[in-house]
Amino acid sequence: MQLSLGLSRSPLEGIRDRLLAEFGPQRPVARMDPVSQLVKSSISTRTEDAVSWAAFLRLRAAFKCWEDLARAEEALVLDGLGDVAGACDKARRLPLALRMIEARIGWLSLSHLRNLSVDAARHELQSLPGVGTKVSASVLNFSSLAIRALVVDSHVHRTALRLGLTDAADATGAYHALMALVPEHWTADDLFELHWLMKRGLGQMLCLEDTPQCGACTLKQACPKTGVGRKADILAWRQRDARVEKVTVPIP
Ligand code: SF4
Repeated sequence: MQLSLGLSRSPLEGIRDRLLAEFGPQRPVARMDPVSQLVKSSISTRTEDAVSWAAFLRLRAAFKCWEDLARAEEALVLDGLGDVAGACDKARRLPLALRMIEARIGWLSLSHLRNLSVDAARHELQSLPGVGTKVSASVLNFSSLAIRALVVDSHVHRTALRLGLTDAADATGAYHALMALVPEHWTADDLFELHWLMKRGLGQMLCLEDTPQCGACTLKQACPKTGVGRKADILAWRQRDARVEKVTVPIP
């Protein structure tokens, strides 16, 4: 089922506009080089942002450069990772991924990816150990490469399913379904912004996994899953809906 928020616009535009009005702009203030972003994104999988940032900063302090991390003993990497999820696997795969890049390119760099198509760049990254659809998209979109790729994490995937933007059960299927809806004129910054609006705003503040707050959700009038939450929340939605009806401006 597709969310209908306008006649000729992509449904992503209506959703972005509503979430922007609710949560404000989410533009990038700084972008890391792509290798640093690969390190950060690789250790972020299934881990809260605060924990993965702390691990990233420990690794950066422990090694003079990422080339040193590529040759580090597994136990040292494990120490730096601390309590990130799957630390043992990540301590083994991350240095190996960095050495594979060096072997392919001749030095540790991912700058050449900006000369490839998005899918070719994704496929090259996903041939590295520990790199899947989400990590590859985040390297391409969040880093200084600034490439048009939407990062679909568990929050973006869950909210896209509830909004009827995709019915793909896997993150790769959801990535392709959402990318097919991205307006041609949207930039990498627009996709960056959509990711954070759907993750931090909608996914972590309203459309929670177990208790979606449909009553407070800015998308409730168009969402096919409105009311999927608890009874108390549905009642709250009815009360709130009556209040906001007077000031709601229809999306063009
Ligand atoms: S209306 Fe409910 S299910 Fe739909 S996006 Fe909002 S919180 Fe999620």
